[in-house]
Amino acid sequence: MKRTFNPWFFVILIILGVVVFNQFNARPPGSEISYSTFTNLVEGGKVAEVVIEQNTIRGELKAETQVDEDGQTRAIRSFQVTTVEDPTLIPLLQENGVSLEGRVPSPWPGLLFSFLPIVILIGFFWFVFMRAQGGPSQVMQFGQSKAKTYGRENKVKTTFDDVAGHEEAKQELKEVVDFLKNPQKYLRIGAEIPKGMLLVGPPGTGKTLLARAVAGEAGVPFLTVSASEFMEMFVGVGASRVRNLFEEARKASPAIIFIDELDSIGRRRGAGIGGGHDEREQTLNQILSEMDGFEKDTSVIIIAATNRPDILDPALLRPGRFDRQVTIGLPTQREREQVLRVHVRNKPIADDVNLERLASATPMFSGADLENLTNEAALIAARTGKQLISWTDFNEALDRIVLGLRRGSLVPSDKERQILAFHEAGHAVAFASQPDLGHIRKVTIMPRGGAGGFMAPLSKEEMFFSRERFQQQLVVAFGGRVAEKKLTGTISSGASNDLKQATDMAKQMVFDLGMGGEEFVAWGSDQGPVFLGGEISRRKDFSEETARELEGEVNKILEAAYSATETVISNNWVAVEGVARALLERETIEGTLIEKAFERAREGMSADEITRMIVAEVDAAERRMAADAQRAAEADRQRRAERPAPTIDPRPASEGPRS
Ligand code: ADP
Ligand code: MG
Ligand code: ZN
Repeated sequence: MKRTFNPWFFVILIILGVVVFNQFNARPPGSEISYSTFTNLVEGGKVAEVVIEQNTIRGELKAETQVDEDGQTRAIRSFQVTTVEDPTLIPLLQENGVSLEGRVPSPWPGLLFSFLPIVILIGFFWFVFMRAQGGPSQVMQFGQSKAKTYGRENKVKTTFDDVAGHEEAKQELKEVVDFLKNPQKYLRIGAEIPKGMLLVGPPGTGKTLLARAVAGEAGVPFLTVSASEFMEMFVGVGASRVRNLFEEARKASPAIIFIDELDSIGRRRGAGIGGGHDEREQTLNQILSEMDGFEKDTSVIIIAATNRPDILDPALLRPGRFDRQVTIGLPTQREREQVLRVHVRNKPIADDVNLERLASATPMFSGADLENLTNEAALIAARTGKQLISWTDFNEALDRIVLGLRRGSLVPSDKERQILAFHEAGHAVAFASQPDLGHIRKVTIMPRGGAGGFMAPLSKEEMFFSRERFQQQLVVAFGGRVAEKKLTGTISSGASNDLKQATDMAKQMVFDLGMGGEEFVAWGSDQGPVFLGGEISRRKDFSEETARELEGEVNKILEAAYSATETVISNNWVAVEGVARALLERETIEGTLIEKAFERAREGMSADEITRMIVAEVDAAERRMAADAQRAAEADRQRRAERPAPTIDPRPASEGPRS
């Protein structure tokens, strides 16, 4: 929340300003003359106009005139007289053709002076009160006219073409577009279209952009509001704004309402610290009831965005509200290339700019970061007076942005990326080397969440795990650290999770499953079984001596597994190297390719050849996917062309069948 200064200073300043202005205004500079001089001037036909106020007459002479008063002679033009009770004055003025204006003096100064202390007092109490309630930032908004908090655009130009990647999200949203374009088609057959869609993802990944694109594609009005703007100092204002917003949307229907930062009001109710936040709850309740209140045939779609779906009030996610969630993640390498392509569309780019390489150099970048990158490059090129943006400009821009991003976030350096690649390659090759573990889904060094990268096995449904199975699992867990160690000669903190997992597993083997020295007793650990998330804790009912013995068994299992892993990794180092290099170039590799690489290395293929093979296959797969997508789109278009959109049913929607 931004902290701003007290608005009452403004109010008081303005009041004082008005008062002072009025005071000066009431007595403009004009020569003070006596009443008799004044009447003389009038009779002499010298006066052009006068303004009569309560106890002064101000006026202008037709021309500058010499006046004798108290033995002095002055040249005057505008003048001022203190009035006396004189019934003949008005006729006299009229006779002499003086233009006359009467004015009741402004009551403001007097009023203000008498009320000012009260106003200040009320203001002071109000301020103290609000401070106690909810912080100063909310007070600031008092007095700002916010009759319209939301933006409304009737013609949005953004289309899906402006949004790179996010293919799945676009598929989901296309249904919404179709509905908005032709609601009757859906309403007539009673199809239920989701009223609310929730776009979930980190900042800058294009959530707002996608919502706009839906409005642009459907050609409907787009009403936006940021949820934080609902928050006001007056309880109830937020709720009434929500009402207005939905009202407007209903009038404009079909339309899209876009609520940004939904989490700022949609937080779990009753979870606030220091008492309930009435305003927030009322606003949230209003949104809920507005969404429920929509008639089924109202074609208003509400799209909301958040990066904290976990803290949303469950009521928001119930059916009929934001029951559809669309995840908008950070772009993959391929998507980053597409985002870059979108943003260089209307920039002059030199031939040496390789967007693919740029994409591979920008892990963890969001769409907004990439846009920033292209802008920065353009700025750098412009500064040096170039006509085209070249590779060096991009490089310089990249350095700047990465430096900025590295502060405080998790963008890995080249060195870290290399270690990461070998670590994940180690897991993957260890996995492939073990006979009983099934298949790998994919390996990636794309950082996500807290993890720098990961290897995902295809889950294999099994009822029982053999001891060998556990041992092999341990080899996979150690694969990362061992490969790292072989590469760098040292060990890093990157394997902490793996070690914990391995230790838990070994403990479980010994304490719970009798897979240590004694096969016939389950001692039960003080930790619950790993697979149940360690929630059930059990009583520890064995002696210290037994405990020491069992721990010795755990150690033995781990040691054996670790040295087995070292053997596996050094026997298959060629495969590890080949896979790691390929990861550095393409970021994500399908599991089948890992298995293939493992086999080829066994047959004597070199690391370089393996890398080249994987890269070629990844690219071929990408091309196939692109071609498939194109074909699907083509087929879709044809289908549409052959089967014209159904004509609109003349029946009003409310009579249509319902589901
Ligand atoms: P969010 O709402 O998710 O925080 P925005 O939609 O405001 O992010 O994105 C900010 C900017 O970043 C957009 O205006 C757009 O220029 C750029 N951008 C983000 N994602 C993409 C994308 N997938 N394709 C093209 N541009 C993108
Ligand atoms: Mg946004
Ligand atoms: Zn690991």
